[in-house]
This record gives sequence, C-alpha cells and structure tokens, in this order.
Amino acid sequence: MNLPLLPSYISKENIGPWHIFLQQVEQVAPLLDKSLQPWVETLRRPKRSLIVDVPIRLDNGEIVHFEGYRVHHNTSRGPGKGGVRFHQDVTLSEVMALSGWMTIKNAVVNVPFGGAKGGIRVDPRLLSQSELERLTRRYTSEISSMIGPDKDIPAPDMNTNAQVMAWMMDTYSMGEGRTVTGVVTGKPLSLGGSLGRQDATGRGVFVTAREAASKMNLPIAGARVAIQGFGNVGEATARMFVQAGARVVAIQDVSGTVVNAAGLDLAALKRYQLENRTLSGAPDCELVANEDFWSVPCEFMVPAALESQINRFNADRITARIVVEGANGPTTPEADSILAERGIVVVPDVIANAGGVTVSYFEWVQDFSNFFWSEEEINARLERIMSDAFNAIWQMSQARSMPLRSAAFVIGCSRVLEARAIRGLYP
Ligand code: GLU
Repeated sequence: MNLPLLPSYISKENIGPWHIFLQQVEQVAPLLDKSLQPWVETLRRPKRSLIVDVPIRLDNGEIVHFEGYRVHHNTSRGPGKGGVRFHQDVTLSEVMALSGWMTIKNAVVNVPFGGAKGGIRVDPRLLSQSELERLTRRYTSEISSMIGPDKDIPAPDMNTNAQVMAWMMDTYSMGEGRTVTGVVTGKPLSLGGSLGRQDATGRGVFVTAREAASKMNLPIAGARVAIQGFGNVGEATARMFVQAGARVVAIQDVSGTVVNAAGLDLAALKRYQLENRTLSGAPDCELVANEDFWSVPCEFMVPAALESQINRFNADRITARIVVEGANGPTTPEADSILAERGIVVVPDVIANAGGVTVSYFEWVQDFSNFFWSEEEINARLERIMSDAFNAIWQMSQARSMPLRSAAFVIGCSRVLEARAIRGLYP
C-alpha cells in the first residue's frame, strides 16, 4: 500500500533531530534480516507521545505556563526508560529523537527496557529552587499516566539531577499512596539511589574510548582530549581520562571555551564554574573563541552537550583520531560521512553514553529487590557490559565493513524488532 512517508507531526522543512534519527534508521534498514523487514516501520513511529501544559506560580505570585513532553518510542523489550531534560530549546521533535536513541541504546547494552524520554521547554537557570520544585511536581503529575516502575522509568538528563528525581519520586508516590522508589532512577542514595550512578555515564564514555583506542593501538597515557560540555557527563569523562594519564587540553561549556596544551586543572575549573557560572576568567587557561574548539589538536574529542554539534561546518576541522559521543545525537549524518572519509572513528552515542542507563538498570533492580550492591560490584558489572557491547559492535563493524554507528544500530534494531515480531500484532 502507498502510505504517506511523513507522519502529520513533522514538516519536510524543519523536522529537527527526529529527522536525524529517521535517517539513521533508514541507513541500517536494508542491512537487517529479511524476517524483520515487515516490522521496520515500528521504529519510524513513536508508540505514544504526550504534550502537557505545566503551569506554576512563580515566587512573585505570577502564573506562568511551560510545555512538557513524555514520549514512549518503543516498549517491545520492556518498560520505557529514559531521562527528563529541562532546556529552553526542548521540542517534541527532540524528545522523540532522544526516545528513539534510548530504544536503540537499551537494546545495544541489552537491558530489558524500551525507549522513552521527557522534557520541559524551560530555562531552569531562571527559576528559583522552589519554582523548580513546583515545576517538577506539576510535570510529574501531568505525565503520571505514562510513568510507573513497570511502565516507564524517568531519570536525569540535561539540567536535571538527583534532587529533581527525588521530587518526581515523591510526587508519584503521593499519588499512589505508598513510596514507590523504582519509578525513577538517578535518585539520591538516601532514597534508593545506586552507588556509582552519578559517574556512570562518564565512566562508560571512558570505557568505550579505552576499548576503541586499544583496537587502534592508540595509548591513552599522554593522549590529548577535548571535551564539549562540563556537566555531569563531561566532567566525569574528563576526570577518568586524566586518571588514566591523558591530558584534557580543551573544555567548552555554554559560557565559552578554555584551553591549556599542558592539561587543564579539572578540579579548579569545576570549582570556578560552580562559583562563577562561567568558564570565562578561570585561572591557568586561555579563553578562546568557541569556533576554535573544533580545531584543537587532540587524539580524543568528546562531545558531551547537545545534538548536532559536529556538523558539515566543522567536521573537516576536527583533528582527533576518535570521537566519543557522550551526548545524544551530537554528530549529524553529513558530519558522520565527512569524519569517515577522513578516517576518524566515531564511537556512537548508543554505546558510548549507555553507562548511565546501565547503572539506572542496576538501580531499578536494587530498588525492586531492596538489596543494595557495593560500588565495586556496580563498576565491575558496568565495565563488563560496556566493553562486551562495544566489542560486539566493533566485531560486526569489521566483519561487515560498516561504521560503528551502523553496527550498533544493526544490533540494537535487530533486538527490538525480534521482540516485536515474536510478540506479534495486537489484536
Ligand atoms: N539521560 C540518560 C541517557 O540519555 C540516562 C537515561 C536513564 O538512565 O534512564 O542515556
């Protein structure tokens, strides 16, 4: 049957990150097993998407409205799972794409979850702590029909943290009339959070970088690293690279770009950023134009901020041997081709940043069993899952001569569609 290709909610001109996700699915669709072909369309359509109005009263008495979203991209392999993002540029298209990447990511590391994501279109820097709490609680209440410990389990993402998860857990629990710790992950330790969750995404980024480097005979000790983003992911990644003997020579955040060819003092930089809410003026480094970040001489580049940062305008300037995607969707398909032509290896988001959701899975299991593991056990299990998953992707990419992203998508999409096919169509 000849069906229209674009669903009603996207226009041809401006379809945003969701279009990038669709392009990535399109690239691997022909590479999937023939038996799965009838089910590919499943990946092109989120299962359900919710847009909610989130009104709050500001501290000055004024009432303001924000737009919130929660999308279940796919639940074939288990309940939805994915973070909640607070950012002024969040759109439905972005949340759809992020939920799609969660579907693939969760399948790649083989945790028993589907893919989901949520967000609020808000600049949280403009809100007080109590306004942020009211925003989080009202949003949680508005999406409560979508979430639950065996339905869809939110977690932190950009500009959300353990405190926000605690408010979400409390709000959901009040509605249920009992404490439901397993409804969100990334919670504080005192509320059923997991040891190792805070650093998990950065640890996973580092582990996949290390595995890729060892395949390419590139030593980490002495290597130069450039990191975009100095939040939860960027900071932990930087720290782990330095612990392994590398030098972080450039860091960019929303406020600017700092470089030091001898290696930045990460602890001092973080302190400065927290105190001053900017990197500008930080000691022992040079502030350079944001554009110059991309051409900094380095062996590893870690985009750990927003989508589409590596694109056709800067991909030809990157000097790194390996790009490790700490962010979700940081490289456009056009940039992927440019980097491939230049022999730069891209470790894709769906494996590189899967450490966060992997330890989220551990947290969820611990909450269900009410039995908590040691940090050593968590980190050891995380390392094993990440390096095994990376090695499977590497092997497929070698065996079938395809980029790591395609190999990861083939593995992830196959797992999702196998589950979909064997479940069959309801009714
Ligand atoms: N927001 C993180 C991600 O993009 C973690 C999601 C989770 O733990 O559910 O992978």
